[in-house]
Amino acid sequence: MPEQLIGSGTADYLPGEGAVPHSVVTPAPSHPKRLGRPAGTTHQIVWRYVIPITTIHLLAFVVFIPRLFSWSGLALLVVGISVFGSGINIGYHRLLTHRSFKCPEWVERCFVILAVCCMQDAPATWVATHRLHHKDSDDTPDPHSPLVGFWWSHIGWSFLENRDINNAATYERYARDILRKPFYLWLQRGIATLWVYLAQVLVFFAVGFLVGWLTNGAAAGVRLGLSWVAWGVILRTVVVWHLTWSVNSLSHMFGYRTHETGEQSRNNWLVALGTNGEGWHNNHHVSPNSATNWHRWWEVDLTYVVIRILELLGLASDVIRPTRLLSKHKDKNAA
Ligand SMILES: [Zn+2]
Ligand SMILES: [Zn+2]
Repeated sequence: MPEQLIGSGTADYLPGEGAVPHSVVTPAPSHPKRLGRPAGTTHQIVWRYVIPITTIHLLAFVVFIPRLFSWSGLALLVVGISVFGSGINIGYHRLLTHRSFKCPEWVERCFVILAVCCMQDAPATWVATHRLHHKDSDDTPDPHSPLVGFWWSHIGWSFLENRDINNAATYERYARDILRKPFYLWLQRGIATLWVYLAQVLVFFAVGFLVGWLTNGAAAGVRLGLSWVAWGVILRTVVVWHLTWSVNSLSHMFGYRTHETGEQSRNNWLVALGTNGEGWHNNHHVSPNSATNWHRWWEVDLTYVVIRILELLGLASDVIRPTRLLSKHKDKNAA
């Protein structure tokens, strides 16, 4: 994919280079046009999304059963939101979709497996959908613009078959680089992603059972195993879903705009907090291939911090930063 340069009229601040002048804060159009659903949308319900998403939401209510509460389960939820969420934020988004850095194959696969454990479909589908979003953000072909409606952008778009996404030509054009790898091709087929998801359920239960059994006997083991599954897998899946979906919905509706990007992307601190930096979405849209959304000192981007740590450990290279994009832009202007 070609690198997108920071456009004219954008903030001239980059990390370590001073503050963003307030004059460059760009208000979004106050009355954005409403959009119809993407042309490829049909009335055909995508049961392979509707069934698991509904089921797991309903199953999540088991966390209200007092006997299934454990402090370790709660800790797994809190830590898991960031750890498994990084599979989406780093793996699917910044690494596979935008190629904002390079890393060894095994590191990439670790992030992808974490992402699959979040049940957001196989990598090629996620990448193709997100690249389509960037290509026509908040315009009719955008698979999930809130200009169609909040619930549409949050979840509704995935419940109705969109032939613009689900066809061979789209995968060929937008996810060919992903499907070239046999592992990702395998994940794309049948219910492979479901097997990976169920394997993590088994691991959470088995380890929880072992810990509970060794400390308080078999019955306590079963209870702790179920607690870890309820809090550490099921509820965490629901929370990470809504956080990811909020980037598509809330971060295109509420928040401030620093850069004029030609669509509705916003910097939303609440979404940024929950997604470790993905909510600085206006910053992301202005330079999608950058590994960091950290443009102002308070726009903390923990996802980038992880990438930076990987880089310091020698596990990430060719990390694209806004400075690199900006200097290219300057070079282009100077030419
Ligand atoms: Zn967006
Ligand atoms: Zn993106």
